This record gives sequence, structure tokens and C-alpha cells, in this order.
Amino acid sequence: MFLVYRYYMKVYLTNVIRVDEKDWKIVCDSTNSRFYPLIFYSHAHSDHIPRKIPPTKIVTSSITEMLIKHFASSFEGASFLQKYSLDGTSFVQKPSGHIVGSTALIINSSEGKLVYTGDVSIRDKGFLEPFKPEICDTLIIESTFGSPGYEFPNYDQIISETREKIRKYLEDNTPVVLMGYPLGKAQMLYHAFSDLTDLNIMHESNFKINSLLLSRNIRGSIPAISYQNAEEENILEEKKNWILYAPLRSGRNEFNMHMRNKYGTKLFAFSGWCISSNYKFRMDVDHSIPISDHADFSELIEICEKSNPDNIYTIYGHNIKFAAELQKRGFNAYPLSKQTILESFFHKSGTKN
Ligand SMILES: [Zn+2]
Repeated sequence: MFLVYRYYMKVYLTNVIRVDEKDWKIVCDSTNSRFYPLIFYSHAHSDHIPRKIPPTKIVTSSITEMLIKHFASSFEGASFLQKYSLDGTSFVQKPSGHIVGSTALIINSSEGKLVYTGDVSIRDKGFLEPFKPEICDTLIIESTFGSPGYEFPNYDQIISETREKIRKYLEDNTPVVLMGYPLGKAQMLYHAFSDLTDLNIMHESNFKINSLLLSRNIRGSIPAISYQNAEEENILEEKKNWILYAPLRSGRNEFNMHMRNKYGTKLFAFSGWCISSNYKFRMDVDHSIPISDHADFSELIEICEKSNPDNIYTIYGHNIKFAAELQKRGFNAYPLSKQTILESFFHKSGTKN
């Protein structure tokens, strides 16, 4: 019996996540504006893209391209591509289920197949295609909630319980403020709750992103009134059965205090971190709902099992803990941290199909 070895792609983390092969390199989700010949941006959250986009080839989805152009201070000279190939290696994207436009990167070369998840979710939230794991040789996976105990409740159940709470408040003429990131969580909130009222009102930061998405008919955007407009038109005073969508902030925030004092609103916080028992009190909100745009611990394990890779590199959040948990389950898993430069030079030939 022969053991067959072959040269694989190398995965590095120095200041950026970089994947190299003999003839190419690609940098993933670099937040600095340095030039690299090829960059992949998985989604448009500010911890994944720089303010100034370097003038180079960029693989990203068309929605992320639109959002990047909206947020960036400059993108002159950048050429946006939805897929790319070079010397027999292909770079393609697939939905990662995290936020609107988010994608994972799949690199297929004669040396093997690598999947970089970016931020990822496999839950079906009804308006985003969830990530579907696929067999690969190397997996680079986010680990925001990569520690046992980070388990989110059933999505449909928590949505239906929260709908009931909101419905009761609106029936009693008590307006509600639903808080989550304007890009990502907010689209989920619009999709799940906006049919409960005719008065969907948005804080300016939500309104701007929603208008942009609505202008392209992107799922998760809805017709809405801006908060400023609602104040000017006296809409908030006239009727009390409105929903206001706003960025996630503490109940002690000036805007939230104003909303509570003037309109008696109830504050709902939506975040994965709501599973921590004291989050509601720390944030001084009326309800904290544990819903995330990320996979929870079991879902991250499920992605790894279904991908069945020879090697896993964990990034972000609890990456050290998650790599240790994967090792316990028999995977070759390594945390990528800023202090580490890891290379996977030689691996036993895979048996993947
Ligand atoms: Zn993100």
C-alpha cells in the first residue's frame, strides 16, 4: 500500500487571511487598503472591508459590490468580479446565509478544494439562502460562537413567540422599538415582523440601507417611513401602533430614553449575545431575543462534519476553543490567530469526491 502525498494550498494569517498556491494568492476579507493582486470580500460588514477599496481584482457578490460602493470612501480602479479563474484554478462564490449578499468562497484547483466560509449561518430565515456545506479538503471557518453553550433556540419558535409579544403591545397601543444591526439583523426583523403593522418606521441608519436595497428589489427590504419624516408629519403622536427599527443600543442611550419617555415604547434587543442571562439587564431593554446572523456552536460543528475536510482553520471569536473542540472530535483543526503563521505543506491524499 502506498501513501500518496501532494502539495496543498497554504493558509496564512499575518495581518490578513491569505491562501497561496504556486501560481496565485488570494486575500480574504482584508480590512486594510493595501494592494493585493486578488481579494475576496465575503460581505459588507465593516469588520470585513476597508473604507478605501484598493485598485485590484475583487471577487464578491453583486449585492456586496453595491453595498461596498455605498460605504467606501473610494473604490477607484477596483474591478469587481463574481467569479474568477487563473491557470486551472477557479474562485467561485456560494451563499453563506449571514446577511444580504454574503457569500463563501470556494477555490478549486488541481491541488485541492478549499472553502472559506466568511461569517456563516445554516438556518433558514425565509429571505436568505442558508449556507449549504460541501465536501472539501480545507475549510476555513468563522467561530464567533465556537464554544459549547452558545446554542440558539429554534428560529421559527422564537419568531412566533416574539410576534405574539409585539402583537399584544400594538393592540394595547404601545409602540415598539426593534433593535439590531441595520445591515443583516434589520432585514431579518423586517421580514419577520413588518406585517404586524401598517406603520413601519426606520431610524435614519436603517432607512438609508433599506432604501438602497429596496431600490434594487432585494429581499429583506420593505416600504417604510423614515423616523425624521414620521416626527415631522406627527405620525408617532397620532397613532401608537407603530414599529420603529433602530440600531442596537442600550436603553440608557439618549434616543431610546427619549422614545421611552415620550411614547412609552418597549425596547426589543435582537442579538446572538442575548443568550447570556444578564444581557437584558446590562442593556436595560424590555426584551432580549437570542437571534443571530451567525451559526451557533452545534451548527458550526455540523458544517465541519458535512464538509469533512482534511484540515480546518478556525478564525474570529472563539477560534482557539473551537479548534480544540474539533480536535476532540477527531478533526485536524488549527486556530488562526494574529500570532500564528500556519502552513499545511503536506497532507495525505484525500478521498473526497
Ligand atoms: Zn458579518
